[in-house]
Amino acid sequence: MAKKKTKQGKPGQIYFPSVFLGKACFRPHCDQLIDQAELILKGIVLFANLRIFQLLLLKSSTAGATGVKADAGYNGLPLTVAESPMPIEKNQVVLFHYSVSDEQGNVVESSRGGEPNAYLHGQGGIIRGLEEALEGRDVGESFSVTVTPDKAYGLRKADAMQRVPIKHLIGAKRWKPGMIAQVKTEQGARHVVVAKVGLKFADVDTNHPMAGKTLTFDIEIIEVRTADPEEIAHGHAHGPGGDH
Ligand SMILES: [Zn+2]
Repeated sequence: MAKKKTKQGKPGQIYFPSVFLGKACFRPHCDQLIDQAELILKGIVLFANLRIFQLLLLKSSTAGATGVKADAGYNGLPLTVAESPMPIEKNQVVLFHYSVSDEQGNVVESSRGGEPNAYLHGQGGIIRGLEEALEGRDVGESFSVTVTPDKAYGLRKADAMQRVPIKHLIGAKRWKPGMIAQVKTEQGARHVVVAKVGLKFADVDTNHPMAGKTLTFDIEIIEVRTADPEEIAHGHAHGPGGDH
């Protein structure tokens, strides 16, 4: 440990009374004693500083709470408590409301009036263009984003017609061309558009109904929270609006 050469020291340094420094002391272990004394003093100062910091923290949080009470009663105005910001990043669960419109401005789907949609950010659970637009945003934010097919449901494939048994179509009892059905595939459930209906078989367009479409999403972020370990292990959000 370096010994101080001036009495005053620099601001923030500990001023050592010369009685401890014992300049005239030539006892072999004296340096060590001084160092120990210095350590103890530093410890006391450090502890005192920590206490002050804690008290300041406590004071500011108490002041905050008092402020809330005062504001609540002031003119009877409704009180808005600021939420601590938690920008959206990987492995956070995000709940949001959305409306999707096509190029003509027709709303094709909306979550409003129902439960908000929940997803685990950074796991590809929602279309890429939307996930990118949500990155770094905060709870309470509303915004619009227009997503091109390459970052939404992909481009339309020309050879996407397939003949499937009608009993494999999920979602209705009677099928007509233009209806959207669900089909279970090895890659999971997929949406298809019914093109032609026969007695036992139907021709379906396996392009996603939204394929090839540029979509505009109107988003409102309802909640952002840290995912629990089980959600991260599953790769999706649990609870209302999420998977199972
Ligand atoms: Zn799960």
